[in-house]
Amino acid sequence: MNLLNFNEIYPNEESCKLKFKEMRDKQGVVCSHCGCKDHYWKADKWVYECKKCSFRTTLRSGTVMHGSKLPFRYWFIAMHLLTSTKKSFSAKEIQRQLSHKRYEPIWGMLHKLRQAMGKRDEQYQLGGSIELDEGFFSTEMPEQEKDKPLKRGRGSQKKTKVLVMAESKAIEGETKKNGKPRKVRFIKMQVITDLKADTITSIVKKRCIS
Ligand SMILES: [Zn+2]
Repeated sequence: MNLLNFNEIYPNEESCKLKFKEMRDKQGVVCSHCGCKDHYWKADKWVYECKKCSFRTTLRSGTVMHGSKLPFRYWFIAMHLLTSTKKSFSAKEIQRQLSHKRYEPIWGMLHKLRQAMGKRDEQYQLGGSIELDEGFFSTEMPEQEKDKPLKRGRGSQKKTKVLVMAESKAIEGETKKNGKPRKVRFIKMQVITDLKADTITSIVKKRCIS
């Protein structure tokens, strides 16, 4: 999805909320009070109500947006930026793009999204042709930790080594001068301690189907 498609499908807060509810309905809501899975939808209050014990669950509760006061659209925009490009976005940059006053909630949002995306990633093993790359990500710290001294050099808290594994597939019926064109299907990223062959091999063995 490109930016124009995104804007067409999610033009406002309402469209994002509806989409989020649709996804949540598909997954099912479990009452955190009694474990019951049947709920009424209270359209006037935008909450689920447990059919057994009447306990109310908000749309965000128990999801990646749990406890967040940021608009749904912020989350959608951030997810779009994080998934549709190869770039890594800093919280500062996304804060600027959203023209949001405070940095902390945006940092928190990105942190949670990255965690959630990492979890989803864990559940999938790559297969077929795997391309490897290594990269460094700048790690951001919340404002309150910025005053703490940083370790120098390689072990610096600000740079994180990441192994990027991409599953690619040849595109049928297309030819290119230099080799077969390939299309990347899935990407996995994992933080690594060093770039030694042994470290990388053991991760690839675990994360990819041979
Ligand atoms: Zn209940």
